[in-house]
Amino acid sequence: MDNNRRTFLKIAGISAALGLSGGIPLSLQAYTPADVEYVPTKGQITGKRWGMVIDTRKFTKPEDFQRVIEACHQTHNVPDIQGNEEIKWIWTDHFEQVFPSSSNPYLAERYEQQDFLLLCNHCNNPPCVRVCPTKATFQRADGIIMMDFHRCIGCRYCMAGCPYGSRSFNFSDPKPYVQNLNPDFPARMRGVVEKCTFCAARLEQGQMPACVEASNGGLIFGDLSDPDSEIRKVLRENFTVRRKVELGTNPCVFYIV
Ligand code: SF4
Ligand code: SF4
Ligand code: SF4
Repeated sequence: MDNNRRTFLKIAGISAALGLSGGIPLSLQAYTPADVEYVPTKGQITGKRWGMVIDTRKFTKPEDFQRVIEACHQTHNVPDIQGNEEIKWIWTDHFEQVFPSSSNPYLAERYEQQDFLLLCNHCNNPPCVRVCPTKATFQRADGIIMMDFHRCIGCRYCMAGCPYGSRSFNFSDPKPYVQNLNPDFPARMRGVVEKCTFCAARLEQGQMPACVEASNGGLIFGDLSDPDSEIRKVLRENFTVRRKVELGTNPCVFYIV
């Protein structure tokens, strides 16, 4: 029996032991490796290849950014820690940091002064997955790069492997730094890495990502493999750029600039 099959049967066995029908339960499903089959839950939003467009023209005021960052961080119990132990799933930075290969000394002033939203790019060719020795970081069949906090041994290879700084390490227990704990999402522990999950748990409940809902149309999330999806329409009608494409990671977050 091959390893994939053995893993599938093991997880299916857990599901059966818990007396759950309709496939693997939400709590396991969100952290299920790509090589493990699962049955979508009822009402789940499904896609073959998830991606996001960030319409930077719609983020002009500090409140525009703050609204989406707060929506994500509150939903996912991201601790509010200042300094070099900061944990971030979605954040902002300046043009030269976001698009270093496109920066030049004659850059239009509006780009120099503008902030840009950043999050995990859910790369098609993710180095973070390749370097993870425990498969705590894995890619689902729908492209989402997930983290299994229980498998993470804190070696931080994935942080070194990610060229976008999209991952944060919990140097200390994050729980004391979480305000208004969301009981529907797991809190993390010391010694694990975390990052944006493209709101995999919300998709399973039939909801769009929290940042998208809070963005007033500034963020568009959808199935890149569906030519009739809204995201494909937006990509057809606008010029977009991606971060550090020269590295071959094939990011699935696009920016209208
Ligand atoms: S942005 Fe970084 S963490 Fe996210 S998939 Fe790409 S390499 Fe991995
Ligand atoms: S820190 Fe965790 S997720 Fe990252 S490479 Fe090590 S085991 Fe994998
Ligand atoms: S997709 Fe979800 S997890 Fe990722 S930044 Fe947006 S709200 Fe946060």
